[in-house]
Amino acid sequence: MSIYVDNAATTKLSEGAAKIMIKHLSETFGNPSSLYTIGQEAKEVLEQAREDIAKIINADQREITFTSGGSEADNQAIRSAAYFGKRKGKTHIISTAFEHHAVLHTLDHLKGEGFEITLLDVHENGIVTADEVEKAIREDTALVTVMFANNEIGTIQPIREIGAVCKKYGVIFHTDAVQAIGHLPIDVEADNIDMLSASAHKFHGPKGTGFLYARKGVPLINIIDGGAQERGKRAGTENVPGIAAMAYALKDAVDNMEKNNAIIIKKRDALIEGLSEIPHCALNGDRDKRLPGNVNFCFEGIEGESLLLLLDDKGIMASSGSACTSGSLDPSHVLLAIGRVHDVAHGSLRLSLSEDITDDDVKYIIESVKEVVEYLRSFSPIWRDLVSGKKQFIL
Ligand SMILES: *Cc1c(COP(=O)(O)O)cnc(C)c1O
Repeated sequence: MSIYVDNAATTKLSEGAAKIMIKHLSETFGNPSSLYTIGQEAKEVLEQAREDIAKIINADQREITFTSGGSEADNQAIRSAAYFGKRKGKTHIISTAFEHHAVLHTLDHLKGEGFEITLLDVHENGIVTADEVEKAIREDTALVTVMFANNEIGTIQPIREIGAVCKKYGVIFHTDAVQAIGHLPIDVEADNIDMLSASAHKFHGPKGTGFLYARKGVPLINIIDGGAQERGKRAGTENVPGIAAMAYALKDAVDNMEKNNAIIIKKRDALIEGLSEIPHCALNGDRDKRLPGNVNFCFEGIEGESLLLLLDDKGIMASSGSACTSGSLDPSHVLLAIGRVHDVAHGSLRLSLSEDITDDDVKYIIESVKEVVEYLRSFSPIWRDLVSGKKQFIL
């Protein structure tokens, strides 16, 4: 038995994307900046990918800059908007407490450079409201950055409404859409988005490839200096095979979104229902406004790490939260942001599904998690204290 349910960490490269990648690795090896024919052939592949991606999110191709992934796109977007604002005396930035570290750590750096950061509360359900964003906006607000969907608990933010508020006050709106793109419909015009980060490996494309959408009029600063690639906004020879494969994977994901989501949502709901039967557990994040493939639970009285290791023994590949925090003993900043106390936050499990999951997989996962949670509780000192009444149950 081998079930991969960690698609929020990364997805398997699709066969189609792999084929495209291999083709361009060998056939279209020219440098897109070279003027002779094979260079120009690579340039054509690059520009076709740019056009295809732009069309999918309803942007202009000149508004797409290719990057090495979501982290770089987040860094470039946030720094660009921050320095653009600073030139006009605006040094205030609004974000949320449960952003990806690519956003939070960039904001930390900017704080050190004199910017003032407001991190909005995301409440117990893991959702910030447009109203709260509006209340936080000031004369000197340069940027609002709110993720489209959270990578740990899957909650979907009211992006269109937040974008509308930003538009009303003339504040740049960036969204880290890495978890959403290819899984939820996105239209940068209708959704009032000025800047958007995306990463190919979260929608069955290759790792190390992503893009930043920046609306015309929002000037980008360079994170990487060098040659004049990407209209002078991102130096370095473009990853042509990766970019072509990303465009293919995104189109494939969007074309099949409805069909895939119908399957995934059914399995997600079955998993939530089955796992809810475990005593003293709780679903993390809003029950309905969540990504089709996200299941995230806390189980009281156990350690998430041990749960993962025992599930791995059973062939189930899952996560306790984000890949970035595994290996550290700190509980997830996302679970703390929605008000889980340390003890409870430690006992978390994230299952992130893709369309290949079967009913048998779902059944097996539910049985396995039930069995492992019961087993771990059987010798957990915390669980003993809870059962004996020495400690109060929280969940
Ligand atoms: C994965 C992820 C990133 C980082 O993307 P990389 O391409 O791995 O750098 C950023 N934000 C979110 C929400 C993510 O899930």
